[in-house]
Amino acid sequence: MSRLTLSTQNQVESTLEGIYNYMEHHLKFSPQDTCPIDITGAFLRLYMTQSCGKCTSCRSGLPQLSYLLDSVLQEKATLETVDEIERLADIITESADCVIGSEAAKMVAKAIKGFRDDFVSHIENHVCLAERTDSIPCVAHCPAHVNIPGYIALVNDERYEDAVKLITNDNPFPVVCALICEHPCEARCRRSLLDAPVNIRGLKRTAIEKATRVIPPERLPETGKKIAVVGGGPSGLTVAFYLQLMGHQVTVFERHKQLGGMLVYGIPAYRLPRNYLKRDIEAILSTGVEAKLNTNVGVGEYSIDNLRKQYDAVYVSIGAHQAKDIGIEGEDAEGVISAVDFLGKIGDEEMVDFTGKNVCVVGGGNVAMDCTRSAIRCGAKSVSIIYRRRREDMTALPEEIEGAIAEGAHLIDLHAPLKIETDENNKVVAFWARPNMVSKIKHGRMNPVDSGMDDVRFECDVVIKAIGQGTDTSGFDETGIPLERGLIKADNVTSIDEIPGVFAGGDCVTGPKTAILAIAAGKVAAANIDEYLGYHHVVQRDIEIPEVELKNREYCGRVEMSERLPEERKHDFLLMEKAMTDKEAKQEAGRCLRCDHFNCGIIKGGRKAW
Ligand SMILES: Cc1cc2nc3c(=O)[nH]c(=O)nc-3n(C[C@H](O)[C@H](O)[C@H](O)COP(=O)(O)OP(=O)(O)OC[C@H]3O[C@@H](n4cnc5c(N)ncnc54)[C@H](O)[C@@H]3O)c2cc1C
Ligand code: SF4
Ligand code: SF4
Repeated sequence: MSRLTLSTQNQVESTLEGIYNYMEHHLKFSPQDTCPIDITGAFLRLYMTQSCGKCTSCRSGLPQLSYLLDSVLQEKATLETVDEIERLADIITESADCVIGSEAAKMVAKAIKGFRDDFVSHIENHVCLAERTDSIPCVAHCPAHVNIPGYIALVNDERYEDAVKLITNDNPFPVVCALICEHPCEARCRRSLLDAPVNIRGLKRTAIEKATRVIPPERLPETGKKIAVVGGGPSGLTVAFYLQLMGHQVTVFERHKQLGGMLVYGIPAYRLPRNYLKRDIEAILSTGVEAKLNTNVGVGEYSIDNLRKQYDAVYVSIGAHQAKDIGIEGEDAEGVISAVDFLGKIGDEEMVDFTGKNVCVVGGGNVAMDCTRSAIRCGAKSVSIIYRRRREDMTALPEEIEGAIAEGAHLIDLHAPLKIETDENNKVVAFWARPNMVSKIKHGRMNPVDSGMDDVRFECDVVIKAIGQGTDTSGFDETGIPLERGLIKADNVTSIDEIPGVFAGGDCVTGPKTAILAIAAGKVAAANIDEYLGYHHVVQRDIEIPEVELKNREYCGRVEMSERLPEERKHDFLLMEKAMTDKEAKQEAGRCLRCDHFNCGIIKGGRKAW
């Protein structure tokens, strides 16, 4: 007779595991326009199924919480019920014996704090508070609200020029975004519920490769109004493009000798070749936008006060170009360079020669990866990335980290910068770092602490600081532009309350973010400056969108873009990513579920103009 048996998964367990896996995937990509109270109630019931029922708080408290949440949805609750739910959730959090009860109650307490107004709206008006207007997940998550299903359908129909025209209705940088947009639109693509998100950016790339031109819409009649834009990055050029099309005359004042902001002085050419960037900038300038290059706005002739006197409105979009210091000994040594200076030089085509040099890059974001991969292309003998947290805590995109490692970079995570060692001529000879260990998690992020291990010396000739950028506001604060933590303070309609007629947006308001967020701010500002000037212009073109094909959707993998091989690409700054083939693009475009048609989207029956 056997005393022990090997445990194997029975049918119930394996089926349940399949359901868990499915639900995990489903939850990750769930739409956010659902009733938040209903979702909270559903999750609470899930916790209840896991309760062992040994302690009273969990056994009796959670069902009571569930009952109270249901009473809100069933229109039986009063305003006192909300306080009662909150009180009960706090009691259970404190008194439950294990994490199941306390975590469930914490979630409900969080819900009350996060959307109390929604509870009140359900009780008083029997509806959700939030206006659920945009039920097309990709469109809602693209900050510029590009008509994504529309352009994908046009790509599918091989009407590439129309696809680019449609994108330009909301975003004057179709070419740039096709190459470097971080594509937040894909995060909740509904196709993920079936298999994987549609490669939305990749299909934009197909459109811009096949369409030879970016054609702006017709300009509306001249209004006689003049607008000054300070900063020729994506935000400034977006506002310039749309206001110029609305019939106003826009002048862009740019400190550097080239337009493009961080698109030229930050993003390396192997991700965004200059001839591609030029296509968008030329289309923007073709509308009649004037550009004054090598012009620093701030004091004297080009102060904000003077611009305000000469122009009917001013938009400030000066980005975030001031490098942050690490705050360690030896930072002023020869051989220490900031990411902004290093990438800026390359942007101005002053090639940096690192032949035979060992380089340490400090930081864990995308900028650090751009520095790493650019340093490799500048001939460095070795490049080490020093980061104080773990690899999984790095803010850089996983594919950027993988790409840098594939090109030969060494990733030294969990090492905090300590000091830069120099020789008698104040030249960098080594970078010292202190090994960290994982510790408590604060606000969802692991807090690294000293592990007690010995400090480590990395021999090197160059240190690149890539730990973030701030905004250089000199000359702006004196003219009354309000600042908050080193950034320009503007509201979510991009206006500055303190100075009527002055607007601001992009990285100088949000801190360093992404191109598409800066573009979205420019689009919002264009509409609001136009309103401020007393107009309500609409500059969008009508493009006929192909009919929806009613066909069964089969499971189908997502086409990823391929790249030139690391051994080949790491020696040059030529474009790294390859576009989809025609066959790939056709299959990928066919994966779109056309949520504009099938999910009561607002695009159905005509799109709301902005
Ligand atoms: C290395 C790097 C890589 C990046 N990679 C990506 C990426 O892959 N994808 C992505 O979406 N985003 C990326 N970004 C972020 C993106 O480039 C920025 O979020 C975006 O460019 C911000 O646009 P903006 O118009 O607000 O500011 P900027 O692009 O910074 O433009 C501001 C402009 O104002 C000018 N200016 C500043 N002060 C003055 C003044 N006083 N007078 C006149 N002109 C002035 C500057 O010279 C600059 O041209 C990256 C950024 C960096 C640094
Ligand atoms: S601009 Fe970016 S976020 Fe918007 S649709 Fe294109 S890839 Fe997506
Ligand atoms: S399936 Fe198509 S329309 Fe639906 S969210 Fe994804 S890209 Fe957008």
